[in-house]
Amino acid sequence: MHQIKICNYYKYKMSQEKGYTRLVSHGIKPSLQRIAIMNYLIENRIHPTVDMIFSDLYPDIPTLSRTTVYNTLKILVEQGAVQMLTIDDKNSRYDADITPHAHFRCSKCGCIKDLPIKEDIIFKEDSEKIKITEVQLYCKGYCAQCLKDIETKNT
Ligand SMILES: [Zn+2]
Ligand SMILES: [Zn+2]
Repeated sequence: MHQIKICNYYKYKMSQEKGYTRLVSHGIKPSLQRIAIMNYLIENRIHPTVDMIFSDLYPDIPTLSRTTVYNTLKILVEQGAVQMLTIDDKNSRYDADITPHAHFRCSKCGCIKDLPIKEDIIFKEDSEKIKITEVQLYCKGYCAQCLKDIETKNT
């Protein structure tokens, strides 16, 4: 399901700029492997896990290790270039979209989709002496495909 390949060299070349720019603007030194991981996240909005990123990039970057992917993601999250989601209790998921939005996870197939949120859903800080740095909103249910499967099974 996550086998969206970026091994196409031309596409890779074209996207290099975007990942590079994101890294530099968040104060991250742009090594080739970091650029590749950042690009992967920008191009594959599937909220991938460490393993998905590793297995998709490894054929193109044989020097890549799972640890490098993990450590790179840690830096990207720390510097705010990427957000980490804990919607999947087994694996952390990563999202290049750092604008406020909610997430939906299908309880049957496990796919994760973006949901738009209204600006006013962001809670007010001033009533308490706190500072909100991050908002995570998770919804669970069944995706359209799984709903269809369930319905056809029941009829
Ligand atoms: Zn589903
Ligand atoms: Zn998202």
